[in-house]
Amino acid sequence: MSYDVAIVGMGAAGLQAAISSSRKKAKTIVMGRSEDSALHGAEVENYFGVLRATGKELLNIGMEQARSFGAKLLQEDIIEMSSSEGAFRLLSDSGTEIEAKAVVIASGIMRKKLKIPGEKELFGKGVSYCASCDCNFYKGRPVAVIGAGSEAAVSAELMTHYASKVYWVAEEVDASENLREKALNAGAEPVSSPPKEIIGDDKVSALVLEDGSELEVNGVFIELGARSTTDMAMDLGVMPTPDGEINVDKDFSAGVEGVYACGDITGKPWQVAKAAGEGGVAGEMAAKYARGL
Ligand SMILES: Cc1cc2nc3c(=O)[nH]c(=O)nc-3n(C[C@H](O)[C@H](O)[C@H](O)COP(=O)(O)OP(=O)(O)OC[C@H]3O[C@@H](n4cnc5c(N)ncnc54)[C@H](O)[C@@H]3O)c2cc1C
Repeated sequence: MSYDVAIVGMGAAGLQAAISSSRKKAKTIVMGRSEDSALHGAEVENYFGVLRATGKELLNIGMEQARSFGAKLLQEDIIEMSSSEGAFRLLSDSGTEIEAKAVVIASGIMRKKLKIPGEKELFGKGVSYCASCDCNFYKGRPVAVIGAGSEAAVSAELMTHYASKVYWVAEEVDASENLREKALNAGAEPVSSPPKEIIGDDKVSALVLEDGSELEVNGVFIELGARSTTDMAMDLGVMPTPDGEINVDKDFSAGVEGVYACGDITGKPWQVAKAAGEGGVAGEMAAKYARGL
């Protein structure tokens, strides 16, 4: 499928970008899961023109608005991005391929925490939130990858190329069939009991599960949610900051021609007003770029 503008993220920034881009008559697609937006569980009372609303209400209206201007909505995670000769290619977790002339990254902030004992204490000592960043440190050693979505499935498959053993800890896998099969065929061992505690003195030595059993591992990768777009942005030539943010200029260009970023991913304050404002500019700029205006 070919578009002028592809927007990664279906939260406040991505939906506003989709509204602005499609209103500028650019053929627009917006991808991601609205229920994964930070806004989904929020109660908002500090956004201009809205006395009080649930985030869910705002998201539903945003989706309806984007659709009404002609944007296509695809509730799927993006797991790969690449570019060649001025065209961008995006691949979703269900295998949908999208081509676009411009990309807007509006994927919010990632790195959700598990909030179990040992996670904070052993962070950097075996606990990691980024398999693609840290895979090399675990050559020949046993690891656990925790998470049910596409990020965990991709990470579990990746770690089978490095680790001596990969446990994939997920109560109920939520990743697409395609990614699930890839991880399992590569040798990741599924474990369905939820994680309870990460233990180790100076370094991770085991992951304790709710059913009382222990997995002897040296690495615990916490990969909750969609695959991090900051990792994928690097494949487009965008260099995120060490904090995982994307720096932008006043047009919300991410420093690579045709690539824009907006919302929480560009930094604080993490607020709907900032996300929507940035999304509006980024969507409009991306549409202008794609249409050669
Ligand atoms: C509990 C809570 C309460 C809050 N209350 C308020 C408030 O009262 N007022 C206020 O102004 N702000 C509030 N916020 C902050 C506000 O929700 C965020 O600032 C805002 O949602 C940021 O918008 P965003 O579009 O940048 O990111 P999000 O809204 O988080 O959207 C990110 C989107 O990116 C998608 N995505 C991520 N990775 C991928 C991928 N690989 N492929 C495809 N899509 C992907 C996700 O599915 C999601 O749709 C609150 C946040 C929380 C968590």
